[in-house]
Amino acid sequence: MLADPVDDRPTCSQDLSGCEPLRLMAVHAHPDDESSKGAATMARYVREGAEVLVCTLTGGERGDILNPAMERPEVRADLPAIRRAEMEAAREILGVRQQFLGFIDSGLPEGDPLPPLPSGCFALEPLESAARPLVQAIREFRPHVMLTYDENGGYPHPDHIKCHQVSVEAFEAAADPDRYQGCGEPWQPLKLYYHLTFHRARIMALHQAMLDLGLESPYTDRIEEWVDEDTDRKGHEITTRVQCADFFDTRNQALIAHATQVDPEGGWFSVPAEVQRSAWPTEDYHLARSLVDAGLPEDDLFAGIRERVSL
Ligand SMILES: [Zn+2]
Repeated sequence: MLADPVDDRPTCSQDLSGCEPLRLMAVHAHPDDESSKGAATMARYVREGAEVLVCTLTGGERGDILNPAMERPEVRADLPAIRRAEMEAAREILGVRQQFLGFIDSGLPEGDPLPPLPSGCFALEPLESAARPLVQAIREFRPHVMLTYDENGGYPHPDHIKCHQVSVEAFEAAADPDRYQGCGEPWQPLKLYYHLTFHRARIMALHQAMLDLGLESPYTDRIEEWVDEDTDRKGHEITTRVQCADFFDTRNQALIAHATQVDPEGGWFSVPAEVQRSAWPTEDYHLARSLVDAGLPEDDLFAGIRERVSL
């Protein structure tokens, strides 16, 4: 008797071909954030056949020009359009899809006391109107996994903190047919992660690797500050380490595509990619919400989901 051909089909846990694609959505505050947080992870999953969508909440209109080579009047005069073009270049390098959600950058307030936020900016939007376009994007793209920042925003930019708030709101509301009506068919993402990009264990490992090679570490001052700080102040636990060292060069290329924001001679590249590959070959995450059973720690954002996604 011939075997049922279905039995010979690879299961999702072995091979993604023949299965509904896994879908990953990364929610970010500004163009360039996708290239500095989780970029190698996204490039790896794209290579493996997943669909990846970056949702960028604002256009980065109030960002500074952080690359001296781009500090020119004609660049400053046209910054919003230039940042969109940079985003498109980075998107192509990473191989992801990308969508702007249409809010206006709040800027990073500086001074003592801090100045008020500019009217009409993203951080001042009421939660429901700020989350609405993201709920719509979730219901259209139907991600299995979402990535965002923790409640502190990763760093204290008001748009990053708001990005966290709208991501949690949308994760929790997108499946509720009574909420956000008119934004599409309900859909429940299964996992929500926070990026843990610049955490201490990674910084310490990169610092030590540079010293071991007789190179200057860019982290010496930061580590001295930590020693003086309250050492009880701990971040979120790492639950998930995604091996993605083969894509660190891709991540660097995507960063460089954001030419107004990233100086190719600057701090982003002070630890060579080959040192990073050997000293800390993963990008790391905290699993903040999960509707699937998967043991922790894990090494795959889709752990517990691959088995469920099939034709
Ligand atoms: Zn940002």
